[in-house]
Amino acid sequence: MLPVDFLFTGRPCRRETIGSHGRPTFMILKTFQLRLYPNRRQTRLLSKHFGCARFVYNWGLAKKRDEYEKTGKSSTWVALCKELTILKQGTYWLCEVATAPLQSSIRHLDAAYQKFFKEKKGYPAFKRKHGRQAFQYPENVKVNAEKRQLYFPCIGWVRYLDGRSMDGQIKTVTVVRSATGKHYAQVLVLLPDNIPEKKPLDKSRAVGIDVGLTTFATFSDGRKVANPRFLKWSLKKLATANRHLSRTRKGSENRGKARLHLALAHEKVANRRKDFLHKLTTQMVNENQVDTWVIETLNVAGMVKLRSLSRSIHDASWSEFVRQLVYKCDWRGKNLIKIGRFMPSSKMCSCGAVNDDLRLADRTWTCRMCGVTHDRDILAAQNILKFANLNTEGNPGINASGEEGRKLPRGKRKSIRVRKG
Ligand SMILES: [Zn+2]
Repeated sequence: MLPVDFLFTGRPCRRETIGSHGRPTFMILKTFQLRLYPNRRQTRLLSKHFGCARFVYNWGLAKKRDEYEKTGKSSTWVALCKELTILKQGTYWLCEVATAPLQSSIRHLDAAYQKFFKEKKGYPAFKRKHGRQAFQYPENVKVNAEKRQLYFPCIGWVRYLDGRSMDGQIKTVTVVRSATGKHYAQVLVLLPDNIPEKKPLDKSRAVGIDVGLTTFATFSDGRKVANPRFLKWSLKKLATANRHLSRTRKGSENRGKARLHLALAHEKVANRRKDFLHKLTTQMVNENQVDTWVIETLNVAGMVKLRSLSRSIHDASWSEFVRQLVYKCDWRGKNLIKIGRFMPSSKMCSCGAVNDDLRLADRTWTCRMCGVTHDRDILAAQNILKFANLNTEGNPGINASGEEGRKLPRGKRKSIRVRKG
């Protein structure tokens, strides 16, 4: 029996159904982001939809907030949808757009409220007129793959540019306008094929990963992926664009131009980072020799509090790297194991000795006990793989969960250090 939190269970892209054999199977939910090319009339209509969806969200939020202050309760999304119908009778411009996206806005507001009450953080904010805009069709969007067109109710057939086929059941479609004025459709598709069965946990087909700032990722077989540091190389450009923006007058035409310029610079950094991460994670999960990846649980939120490193840590975007690995491993039947954070992974020699004097700047070190010189990152990756404690029968060992070890006081860690995989 595996410890509950041993195998990472985040499954953001799954839909559970009951298969013909009576056992639950998982179908793949995949989002396709398509660049849209609306004509002038459609752009104007899309603009109206963005505005109305934002208006309804903010109207609902204000209503809920006031009601809660007065009575300690706020209306449900069904009640708000009924009130929306009454609101529309007195507001002619709300009738010029499709109804479904407006009701979606109310449902999103409800979800934001639920999240706030469950997780006790992040009170829903009012949506702003500037920057990224979005609205959602819960249904009724059609695709013509041959002509590469999407049909939106109230707007019509809009051209898109993408060669991938979306064979499956179309669920929701979110239309987005980025801060740089580009339109996208995010199409959620339920694919007909099931999630493949997980491959067995085999030590000889497993690789440990250590992520860092000097090298982005180091694998236990000795390979290294350099950290591209996209933000660092663009900081000068971003600073100039920021300065230009702050020098313009509020509401002037030049301010709009400067704002677009800054958004374009940010978009470029984000796109380069996204491209790098997708290429790396796809290449990793497609490797024939590896069935299991082992990674250390990272406390990114805690690490960014170190002010000297926070910018570099955000730039490295480890969380996004792990998020992509999780769902891509899922789609290909590979295993992703997360081990605990307590291990002195870069300080512990393969003979079991721990070098407590190791500083962050030391890239290599020599063991006093056995005299072997280690590359800090490769050693960490090897130790991460070792701590997962996979054996050839495919059973993870006791210190794989990592949770129990983290709670041990400092003095008692020694018992874990000497245990070998
Ligand atoms: Zn040693």
